[in-house]
Amino acid sequence: MNKQISEAHADRLIDGKAFATRVRSRITGQVSKLAASHQLTPGLAVVLVGEDPASQVYVRNKERQAKEAGMQSMTFRFDASTSHADVLEKVQALNDDQDVHGILVQLPLPDHVDEEAILNAVDPAKDVDGFHPINVGQLSIGGDASVPCTPLGCIMMLKDRLGDLSGLNAVVVGRSNIVGKPMALLLLREHCTVTIAHSRTKDLASVCRDADILVAAVGRPRMIPGDWVKPGAAVIDVGINRIDVEGGKTRLVGDVDFDSCVEVAGAITPVPGGVGPMTIACLLHNTLTAACRQHGIAVPEAEIDS
Ligand code: NAP
Repeated sequence: MNKQISEAHADRLIDGKAFATRVRSRITGQVSKLAASHQLTPGLAVVLVGEDPASQVYVRNKERQAKEAGMQSMTFRFDASTSHADVLEKVQALNDDQDVHGILVQLPLPDHVDEEAILNAVDPAKDVDGFHPINVGQLSIGGDASVPCTPLGCIMMLKDRLGDLSGLNAVVVGRSNIVGKPMALLLLREHCTVTIAHSRTKDLASVCRDADILVAAVGRPRMIPGDWVKPGAAVIDVGINRIDVEGGKTRLVGDVDFDSCVEVAGAITPVPGGVGPMTIACLLHNTLTAACRQHGIAVPEAEIDS
């Protein structure tokens, strides 16, 4: 992100870091009310297999933020050589543990562990990642689903910035199960007219130019230039791509070319500092919601600092 450009268009930036702080502060208030009213502390269990450095950092952040919100946080670390059966056994034990309300299996899993079988073994009521087929189905029929954290964060930011999304043209570029498809379903739930684009889409530029809301979840650095963006559109950049820069260093960029898109967009998320920080905030939101649903109580109201 070019500092001068972003300062000139500061009002267009959607500050995901600041928004995530507000969401976490609201959740902390709700967790404290839940403890006072029902003596209930939401418990989040994370299963981490192997030593993937990015996963280690991510899991440490989840642990810290869950504790800061007043939740019980449990992390179960396994060697990369742990068998599929042992990981499965752990997930089943967590399903039966009354103190655990949310279970997250950190991906990727080592090749010899069947990822799909492990994710499907998580109790849907405790599936705070929203990856279980029951939750995917519930989301698609408009039921009480646990919604994948990254698209949930995107929709929260969009509603916070734009208010009512009803009738807007939304284009989601990317159709993965963890981002693109649930994002499209959430936009549909908000009554947008939704197009899902992907690698076989013809004339992607003109599809994007129709979007009042453009969500990029592709994994290709700066693929979407400013002249694909409709003037005034809201641009949500989910992409996280590490690129080489001068001096042997690297930096993170999104799937949209920020410097040209910010000139045209009405609102835009930066990378880093946009969608990323919302993902853990939404994990905490899902854990709190799961704890309340499992005990048949409404999520307590809490004041939001604005
Ligand atoms: P993915 O599973 O690799 O899916 C990428 C999607 O992009 C696919 O649907 C693919 O189409 C589509 N695509 C690829 N090349 C394209 C092209 N040239 N034109 C149009 N569409 C194209 O990726 P993902 O897991 O959804 O992640 C997408 C990005 O979001 C990555 O950068 C990832 O790191 C990031 N991410 C960020 C967060 C966060 O917390 N901020 C969380 C998750 C992911 P096909 O289906 O036709 O192949």
